[in-house]
Amino acid sequence: MTAPGTAELVELPAPEPGPGQVRLDVLAAGVCHSDLAVMHGGAAARWRLPFTLGHETCGRIAALGEGVEDLTVDEQVVVHAPFGCGRCRRCLSGRTNYCDHRATLPAAGLGLGLDGGMAEAVVVDRARVVSAAGLDPVAAATLTDAGLTSFHAVDGSRVALAEPDALAVVIGVGGLGHLAIGLLRGLGTAVVAVDAREEALDLARECGADVAVLPADADAAVARVASHGADVVFDFAGAQSSLDLAVSLLRTAGELVVVGSGGGTLTVSKPGVLPSGATVRVPFWGSRPELEAVVGVARGGALTPRTTIFPLADAELALARLREGRLVGRAVLVP
Ligand code: NAD
Ligand code: ZN
Repeated sequence: MTAPGTAELVELPAPEPGPGQVRLDVLAAGVCHSDLAVMHGGAAARWRLPFTLGHETCGRIAALGEGVEDLTVDEQVVVHAPFGCGRCRRCLSGRTNYCDHRATLPAAGLGLGLDGGMAEAVVVDRARVVSAAGLDPVAAATLTDAGLTSFHAVDGSRVALAEPDALAVVIGVGGLGHLAIGLLRGLGTAVVAVDAREEALDLARECGADVAVLPADADAAVARVASHGADVVFDFAGAQSSLDLAVSLLRTAGELVVVGSGGGTLTVSKPGVLPSGATVRVPFWGSRPELEAVVGVARGGALTPRTTIFPLADAELALARLREGRLVGRAVLVP
C-alpha cells in the first residue's frame, strides 16, 4: 500500500531476518475484506506508508535469524499476525489480538501497518510462526484470519451452541462466513445461512448449511427450522441491514456475534431492540493457541476452505474482484 486507497506491485530488496526472526518464502497470501477497509478506511491514517499488505500468510522458512534454533529451513508454516505489546498478560498468553495496549501500537499486525505476506518474502518474529506441515499452502494461508477469526467467534459461543437443537444463523458467506459454517457443522449445529448473493448461497450449501436464503427470506427460513428463533447469529457483514436482520432473528437470551466491519450500528438500551437476556460480542481475530487449534481442525479434514488463486502480479485484480463482490470463498495470491 503506497498511499490511501492505492496498492501497487513494487520491487523491494529481500528482507533480512534480525535476531529472533525468520524469513519466509511466501507460498500463499489470502486477500481479506479488511484489506479493503485498510486501503479505503481510516485505520491506515495512523500507520507509516508504504507497507506491504497481507495478513494471511503461509510460507516456507528460508533463513533463520540469530538465536532461532528450534526451527529448520524448508519447514512450511503459517503466521499469527495480530500485534500486541508483547508484555501484557494477554500478549504473554498468546492473545495478542486483545493486547491491553492495542490502541497505542504503531501497527495492528503483519500486513496491517508493517510489511506482510503479499510478497515473495516476509520477515516474521519466531513467536508468530505456527507449523503448517502437510497442509495445502493455499488453504493454510486462509486459516490465519478467515479460519482463525471464525474459529474464535464460534468458540466464544460454544455454551449457547451446546443447547439441545441449537440454531446458528450465519449472515455473510464470504471468506470468513463459509469457514464459520464448516466449523458449526463440525459441532453438529443446525445452520441457516444468509447472503445477498446467490453464488454465496450455493457455497453455503456446499459447506453444509441446512438452509441458505437471501436476506428477505431469512425470517421465514429461521421460523421453519426453529420457531423460537436463533440461539446465535453471526454477522460477517456488519452492515446496517445485516445487523438489523441479525437482531430480528435472535431468540431470547440469544447471542449476537458481530464480526463484519460494515459500519452498521446497534443501539443497546433496556428496553430496546435486543431480546431480553441477549448477549452481544464483537470478537477480533484470534489467539496463537487458537491458530494452532484451527490448523489441527484443517489437518483432521474437518475444514475445507474454498479458494480462488491469483498470481501475486494480479493482486490488484483480486482486490477489485473482492470490492465488486465477485469472489466466491477466499482469494489467495501465489507469488
Ligand atoms: P467477503 O467480502 O469475502 O464476504 C462478505 C460476504 O457478506 C459476501 O458474500 C457478501 O455478499 C455478504 N454481504 C455483505 N453485505 C451483506 C448484507 N447486508 N446482507 C447479507 N450479506 C451481505 O469478506 P470477508 O473477508 O469474509 O470479511 C467479512 C467481514 O469481516 C469484513 O467486514 C471484514 O472487514 C471483517 N473482518 C473482521 C475480522 C475480525 O476480527 N472481527 C477479521 C477479518 C475480517
Ligand atoms: Zn500486550
